[in-house]
Amino acid sequence: MKLSLVVPCFNEEENVQLFFDETQIAFEGLVGNYEIVFVNDGSTDNTRKNLKVIYENNPDKVQVLTFSRNFGKESAIFAGLSHAKGDLVCIIDADLQQRPEVVIEMLKAMSEDDSIDCVTAYQENRKESKFMTVVKSGFYKVINKIADVDFVNGASDFRLMKRNMVDAILDMGEYHRFSKGIFSWVGFNTKYIPYTVEERRFGKSKWNFIKLLKYAIEGIISFSTFPLKFVTGIGLATSFASVLYLLVVIFQKLIFGIDVPGYATIVVLVLFLGGIQLFCLGLLGEYLSKIYMQVKNRPIYVLKEHLGKDERKN
Ligand code: UDP
Ligand code: MG
Repeated sequence: MKLSLVVPCFNEEENVQLFFDETQIAFEGLVGNYEIVFVNDGSTDNTRKNLKVIYENNPDKVQVLTFSRNFGKESAIFAGLSHAKGDLVCIIDADLQQRPEVVIEMLKAMSEDDSIDCVTAYQENRKESKFMTVVKSGFYKVINKIADVDFVNGASDFRLMKRNMVDAILDMGEYHRFSKGIFSWVGFNTKYIPYTVEERRFGKSKWNFIKLLKYAIEGIISFSTFPLKFVTGIGLATSFASVLYLLVVIFQKLIFGIDVPGYATIVVLVLFLGGIQLFCLGLLGEYLSKIYMQVKNRPIYVLKEHLGKDERKN
């Protein structure tokens, strides 16, 4: 059985050769038939040059896909999966935070039980601040309550999949790709094994808090319509409350003859309702923008160069 490693790379000039060498060492004598599909996601450093060298030294083992610009990791994963020729495909980062030795463990777990279609490594202990751990586990609690699919805290896209699962993922042509949701949506039997994330060898992470927050919102919008139902609920509740308040005001005026001084109440209510309305509009806009981008039917990535063209495509 052939194994394909899909490796998204964005500005990883110092890591790619190291990744290739360490993978070869880890696979020595254990995995014979494999290829590495590097996806150069519009890097602006020497990643392309360094990948070319790796390809030229190992043309039968390596493919290099270079994008015309940075399309994001999700697009890079999609491109890599589309060009991978293996019966088994593993997605792994180029920065060596995810060790190639773990791939061997995944292969072992998969060979032990043929009902397993996917082996996913999850982080047992997160190497990050307490604040981020709390925020992330909060996100998983919320999304699991409201989304149609299950999300496992700590499970990333570091996973080994059988061909049938890969093909199912490729059949999902959505433009906004939220991998965690897609993996879970396609179903299949997934086994989770723990792993420890290593420190990044060189360069720095492309994630920061704002990017993570955007990614989290993207995940919720992509895999749940709960926010839309929620704002319908807010609308109904405020209308109901306003009718109640109207009755209170009528009673105060007609029965008790109390003058209702209204200025402050009106200002607060106008601002409050205006806020809710803008929030709802914004939320609708989020869904609308997703539909807009989807109906444009733009490609998920644009290739500038493909070293090691495969027979499956083209
Ligand atoms: N990556 C990518 N395109 C991007 C951002 C990241 O292909 O726009 C790749 C990056 O080169 C790395 C992997 O995705 O191989 C994970 O990125 P990173 O290490 O920045 O994320 P972290 O490990 O901090 O979650
Ligand atoms: Mg990383």
